[in-house]
Amino acid sequence: NLQVLLRRRPKGAPVPEDFEIVETAVPEPREGEVLIRHQYLSLDPYMRGRMAEAKSYAKPVELGAVMEGRAAGEVVASKAPGFAPGDIVAGGYGWQRYSCVKAAGLIKVDPKEAPLSANLGVLGMPGLTAWVGLEDIGMPKSGETVVVSAASGAVGQVVGQIAKIKGCKVIGIAGGPKKCQYVTEELGFDACIDHRGDLDAQLDAACPEGIDVYWENVGGPVQAAVFPRFRDFGRMVMCGVISQYNSVEGADSFGGAPGPNLGAVVRKRLRIEGFIVSDKGWPRYGQFRKEMLGWMADGRMTWREDVAEGLRNAPQAFIGLLEGKNFGKLVVKVD
Ligand code: NDP
Repeated sequence: NLQVLLRRRPKGAPVPEDFEIVETAVPEPREGEVLIRHQYLSLDPYMRGRMAEAKSYAKPVELGAVMEGRAAGEVVASKAPGFAPGDIVAGGYGWQRYSCVKAAGLIKVDPKEAPLSANLGVLGMPGLTAWVGLEDIGMPKSGETVVVSAASGAVGQVVGQIAKIKGCKVIGIAGGPKKCQYVTEELGFDACIDHRGDLDAQLDAACPEGIDVYWENVGGPVQAAVFPRFRDFGRMVMCGVISQYNSVEGADSFGGAPGPNLGAVVRKRLRIEGFIVSDKGWPRYGQFRKEMLGWMADGRMTWREDVAEGLRNAPQAFIGLLEGKNFGKLVVKVD
């Protein structure tokens, strides 16, 4: 079994030496478990948190343990009722070629319904995040202005397209002209702002009426530029702050920069709410999947993936994710 282990905890941005690649025996399923050969591994920003020791909503990966992650692939052996060799499933565990997991967490998927890797993106955790965060916190209404950061990424692309389906004006924020072009031309957002340029001027031009919903994926200077532009009763969906994940001061530090003036929360009656998909999302996965498959079938939902080839390239691909090198949902095609 080819595995990528956490060798040491990164200081700041992860480097290849923080990981270790090893060959071990293929595990045997125990009673109630299924052995899966992974075809795709999902790489997601939250994994940076699991590499750190700091207290969070989930336990860190132990040093020397396989890196945490979700995978999709084929059942090769089963000691669980309802699963047989040849079944295609999402819910495999870890940066590795094979995993043994309890059947309870597995979703059997029909490869004719959607490409397998989509179960890690638009139909998986990131898509569910977008759907549940908008449904419960963003609550966009027709005619409102929605701003989405990291707009071309796994979560952002789905957020913006759902907001368009709901009849909103949608402004993306992304890094560089290629991503911005994709966001407007392929995803159908009304405009896209390049966060490497003058954020204030671009926001003034794209949403002179102000902002009703801000979907926060990045934090930092982007948040500082968006926040003063909220309209009364605006909602800020706190999904993530990726620009702070490599901070040596820790994810809860302002990094020396002044935070936004929260007085506006009172004056404008704003709502700021954070959420974690595992609390809110997974219990409603069935409802989400049905709705998402409907949008995919009628052409209202498109998506883009960035596929890294081979498990040995997972560390470098993950390092790039935290620098904005990915273009679309990042997955690894497991060799
Ligand atoms: P993406 O596919 O969007 O990839 C990350 C993107 O973030 C990069 O491509 C880059 O886009 C942007 N980025 C990276 N570094 C910076 C930076 N320093 N400043 C500004 N932008 C940066 O990732 P996901 O869609 O998977 O995740 C997006 C966010 O959602 C993350 O914060 C993640 O932690 C969060 N999340 C939260 C969940 C929850 O339950 N709360 C669940 C899933 C995700 P660009 O080049 O356009 O800047």
